[in-house]
Amino acid sequence: MRIDVDAELVERYLFELGRHGAYGETGVWRVAYSPEWVDAQNQVTGWLEDAGLEARNDTVGNVWGRLTGTEDCPVVATGSHIDSQNPGGRYDGALGVIAGIVALRTLREQFGEPRRTLEAVSLCEEEASRFHATNFWGSRAIVGAIGPDEAERIRSLDGTTTIGEAMEAVGLDPGQIPEAARDDIDNWIELHIEQGPILEDEGLPVGVVDAITSITHYVVELTGRSDHAGARPMQGRLDPMAGFAEIVSAVVGVVLESGPPAVTTIGRVHVEPNIPSAVPDKVTFTLDSRHPDQRAVEAQHAAQERLMREIAERRGLRISWTKPLDLPACPCDPDLVATLERAAKEQGIAYRRMHSGAGHDTQNMAKIARVAMVFARSKDGRSHTPEEFTSVEDAVAAIRVLTGALHELAY
Ligand SMILES: [Zn+2]
Repeated sequence: MRIDVDAELVERYLFELGRHGAYGETGVWRVAYSPEWVDAQNQVTGWLEDAGLEARNDTVGNVWGRLTGTEDCPVVATGSHIDSQNPGGRYDGALGVIAGIVALRTLREQFGEPRRTLEAVSLCEEEASRFHATNFWGSRAIVGAIGPDEAERIRSLDGTTTIGEAMEAVGLDPGQIPEAARDDIDNWIELHIEQGPILEDEGLPVGVVDAITSITHYVVELTGRSDHAGARPMQGRLDPMAGFAEIVSAVVGVVLESGPPAVTTIGRVHVEPNIPSAVPDKVTFTLDSRHPDQRAVEAQHAAQERLMREIAERRGLRISWTKPLDLPACPCDPDLVATLERAAKEQGIAYRRMHSGAGHDTQNMAKIARVAMVFARSKDGRSHTPEEFTSVEDAVAAIRVLTGALHELAY
């Protein structure tokens, strides 16, 4: 059955949401619990009510819209996050929030009351762009995974406030965070922009996501001995920078050799003492290592750790690391993936199955529900920048797939 989505409505919502925290011509700067964030969540509440849904805020600031079903059974939910990078684009997170509202509005208008209750949610925080250690604050509250001391402990990047104080400033009580937890959602689908180039390269508007990548961040310390850059011959140096260079080639090389979808990145380096005329004492660097298949994750980490140890040992350097972030790969539910694929076929929309190379709220929702995701094509594969762009046609195609799947699940 054909699902018709109002393209003009999608375009208008994208434009209007992008005005809250507008940055330059096309960007958005809308971090959690800021005045722009409050305006955006109020805007979402208005649209949910316009769509004939019951709107409410939960205790962490997620905004929910509910279309109550005739049967008393667990909820089918969809949504994404309202906050942005600083600055980010108009589509990351925002498109999934709009998609949820438009999908439920479309279903209500075309098919009336559902059998199962449907909810659309605008999640309060995902990007960690104002508070560093939030780790998907909005969806963690929903799955009951925010620790009792976190609201006081997590500080803003500029150090001026805790996340608890920022919540209080917008009228939320951090003491009530546990009340945001849900145990009545059993299916979750998030629509999001792809943020990479794969759909564009293949000329496809939509992706059906079957797994979300693992993400592990190592912080590695490589220690040698500082010496005079001229007086100390090459022989006998304990040079952590030379060791670092060899490690970069080796850990990138092992991932190049195993091929896609493995990826790894050394994104930050800190050299001490960082002066031109001295062999450094110490090089500290980050290593980001990802793979969407958990068995491959473990092999990839083992190979990279072995290479780092071997190189350090051969060069007489000391090496140690911590893993401040270590999220496992999240497989999507095969039945829900199949539902999305059927919806794409029924709506006549070309798609491919793919994994997500970025982390998403969905990997948290997997703790309480069966999950899957729909991707919309990103122009030039760009994201986390004001240049981010998804055409209205592609957004509508992805929303039709989402809506078709919600229809199969709830009607
Ligand atoms: Zn996002």
